[in-house]
Amino acid sequence: MKERKKVSLNKKATLFLVATPIGNLNEISSRALEILNSVSVIACEDTRNTLKLLTHFDIHTRMITYHNFNESESTKGIVMLLENGEDVALVSDAGYPLISDPGYELVNEVISRGFDIVTISGPNAALNALVASGLKTTHYLFYGFLNSKSSQARKELEELKEFPYTLIFYEAPHRIEKTLKLMYEVLGDRRACLARELTKLHEEYHRGTLSELCQLHDLKGEMVVLVEGYEKKEETIDMDRLINEVDELVRDGMKAREAVSTVCKDHDISKNVLYNEYLKRKK
Ligand code: SAM
Repeated sequence: MKERKKVSLNKKATLFLVATPIGNLNEISSRALEILNSVSVIACEDTRNTLKLLTHFDIHTRMITYHNFNESESTKGIVMLLENGEDVALVSDAGYPLISDPGYELVNEVISRGFDIVTISGPNAALNALVASGLKTTHYLFYGFLNSKSSQARKELEELKEFPYTLIFYEAPHRIEKTLKLMYEVLGDRRACLARELTKLHEEYHRGTLSELCQLHDLKGEMVVLVEGYEKKEETIDMDRLINEVDELVRDGMKAREAVSTVCKDHDISKNVLYNEYLKRKK
């Protein structure tokens, strides 16, 4: 059994937020292993999953559970450990804790009590997928899971419809076909990417448009869906056509200004632009 080295001897105890692999175990960092070895306790979502990771790396640190169903109770327990000077590491089943995973309540409680919080970097499914998607990376919105009820998910997508940055979603395999269809209906036929089984043997990317992704069937495993942000399409103004419409109204007896105003309202464009063009052509 490896000797455990305590990290915080004469300072306040620390909560470490440790990112763990999303598939390939080789992606754990040596710093993560060092922390998981040295803390007094590892708080995890599911001890069976974390045990596999710890066994693989021959780590024997004590585990306690911390998941959505016992967040308040175990937050208290973890705060007590910190108060006793024990360092604690929080991990989830995969990737970063708190990212579509538990930990939010704990982090806030620990911040309010003035303990240190240190993040140990590592894999994250959303970012892995984003950088390989071919979609814009300068700005993006990580949304995580849409609501599992279709009507609610539709509302959420409606709210995101005019958001101009790449959208990143997590989705479960049993809902993916329905969700892609809904995205196509609400967001239109945008560029999109489905990233599956990242860092694992069957990792794959499907890049195309939402209607093309809707043709995929029997998708299994873990997946991230990324959709291009909203792009305002500048309507090209066909001036000749608009001037003809104005002329027609004038021929029917309407005053030029009123005719311009009517045509502009119909096409949702500025009156000044069309009126100036009209006057220029009538000279
Ligand atoms: N905390 C994790 C992170 O930082 O990425 C996310 C956990 S969330 C409960 C699980 C979801 O993340 C899956 O349903 C899937 O959408 C996505 N995910 C996790 N691992 C993945 C992988 N290897 N490939 C693709 N998506 C993955």
